[in-house]
Amino acid sequence: MADNMIRVFGHTNPDTDSISCAITMANLQNQLGREAQSFRLGEINKETQYALNTFDLKEPELLSNIDSNTNVIMVDNNEFSQSLPGIENAHIQMVVDHHRLNLQTAEPVYCIAEPVGCASTIMYKLYKQDDVSITPKMAGIMLSAIISDTLMFKSPTCTEQDKITAERLAKIAGINLYDYGYKLLEAGTDISNFTGLEIINVDSKDFKHNNLKLTISQINSSNLEDVFKRKTEIEQAIEQRIQEENIDLFVFLATDILEANSKAIVLGNRIDIFERAFNTKLISNTTLLKGMVSRKKQILPAIIETLEQKIRI
Ligand code: MG
Ligand code: MG
Ligand code: MG
Repeated sequence: MADNMIRVFGHTNPDTDSISCAITMANLQNQLGREAQSFRLGEINKETQYALNTFDLKEPELLSNIDSNTNVIMVDNNEFSQSLPGIENAHIQMVVDHHRLNLQTAEPVYCIAEPVGCASTIMYKLYKQDDVSITPKMAGIMLSAIISDTLMFKSPTCTEQDKITAERLAKIAGINLYDYGYKLLEAGTDISNFTGLEIINVDSKDFKHNNLKLTISQINSSNLEDVFKRKTEIEQAIEQRIQEENIDLFVFLATDILEANSKAIVLGNRIDIFERAFNTKLISNTTLLKGMVSRKKQILPAIIETLEQKIRI
């Protein structure tokens, strides 16, 4: 299949930012006269569903494989390990992201990477740059992504730009930023009808560092006890994934959206790396990480740094 259509998508286990960027980037391309469509690489989570319902937007279609030479725009992700198999052979036209760069392409690529709290903040700037007006619906979904990724501006990843952009978008969308924001985050914390496996897969990312297979999974909560009364089930699900996927270190984080702390459940044959990285001792597989809410800026860098030190010795 060699058509001209540009397929726009974020990472697997899509979060609100991946869906927002896919929708708004496809819309921007369409406004600029290019054929583009948004896709999702997995199920829509409850938080994102709440945002889509609020702003009366349809969920993007599910994409489960990529033919070689397909035209692609990657948003909110640039790691092949968090994309679809076959992405290596796709024709990547553009990348818009706010994560660490871990990308190798055969051809030159238009890459916009900024260390802001949310890729949708970059999308806002692209609309401005291209002089394309932002509709209330597009504003609503972008705004939802900023609230989600920055945990209502509490995450250390949040920048002044994210805040200012969110305020402008709230005006366009015609909503009260904080009222809506907490309802949105709260919608993502409901795990009552989830199995253990569903809980750990809500927002799970795999990383490979040399030979180490690392998974960091995260769930938001407004009451950590709700999550920890499911601890046994969660641990069983983690063990299952460790066995099936040969994961060396699995870090599950329950992040308190009000207190901005995370409580971790850590399993695998390399929990020593986690204990060293955070200078902590796990007690029945758990520990409290005070002030830690960001996988990309706090958890992952601490683990990578520990691994690098080990290699240097
Ligand atoms: Mg994301
Ligand atoms: Mg993001
Ligand atoms: Mg995220």
